[in-house]
Amino acid sequence: METRSNRPDITTPMSSDRAVWLNGGQAPCETLPGTPKEVQRLVLLGAPGVGKGTQADLLHQWCGACHLSTGDIFRAAKGLPPGERTPAIERALSFMTRGELVPDETVLALVRERIRCLRCTGGFLLDGFPRTVAQAEHLDRLLKAEDLPLSAVIDYELPMDKIVERLAGRRVCASCKSVFHVTEELSSPETCPQCGGKLYQREDDRPEAVRVRMKAYHLSTEPLIEFYRRRGLLLAISAEGTPHEIFQRTLDALALRHALPNPAPPFSTSGH
Ligand code: AMP
Repeated sequence: METRSNRPDITTPMSSDRAVWLNGGQAPCETLPGTPKEVQRLVLLGAPGVGKGTQADLLHQWCGACHLSTGDIFRAAKGLPPGERTPAIERALSFMTRGELVPDETVLALVRERIRCLRCTGGFLLDGFPRTVAQAEHLDRLLKAEDLPLSAVIDYELPMDKIVERLAGRRVCASCKSVFHVTEELSSPETCPQCGGKLYQREDDRPEAVRVRMKAYHLSTEPLIEFYRRRGLLLAISAEGTPHEIFQRTLDALALRHALPNPAPPFSTSGH
């Protein structure tokens, strides 16, 4: 049981509005992150529903780096009037609704357009990208060219039956975007306890789409675990327990990694 006193200490050193990441192009971020003592450039891996987004938000509050989710780019695009969506985005959204991966070239074009977020002095927390070996190789080349080594790659691990249970019960607030689970104590299953907004189930959390997403994860994303292990960047973290317990494990693993010499050069390009 989690109490206030056993929660890890989170300060809010900086904040950022992610306008560049969500909107691309020349959109300016109004709140820029400061320069932390130690810049964190992290990739968060793990099956859909394992809690990467929640951990990214906690990590953001801890170190100030922006939470960069490629899924959020597509969800932001979904909110645009159809006339403002590019044909590439329209096509991407149809893959997303079915639970399939969006083709690499579309995702990579969106990330290249947002290179300023990778260069950000506040670091970054990549969530949902890379998701295929081709995307990871591309990111590797991009970061190498920019001389921006990754700090670590965190793989959140949870048994498949628990993941499916989390996804099926996940509800999102349409207004403040907070995420809840139907088993939480909600005074109404349809109303956000934080802002009173309407709770809904993501289209891709419905059972048909969840099956497709899990297949895509096994086929395309799981190989990234080995890809990053070989580069000496992987930290495997159990995603059992409360968000703050998982977060504390993450901080412990990062601290330990920092205390030990790096087992492999961050930009090893040999074998994968
Ligand atoms: P997420 O919120 O990360 O689970 O992403 C939601 C959906 O967006 C995924 O099921 C895919 O359809 C699409 N998507 C997000 N990121 C990627 C990516 N890196 N590569 C391919 N498709 C992606």
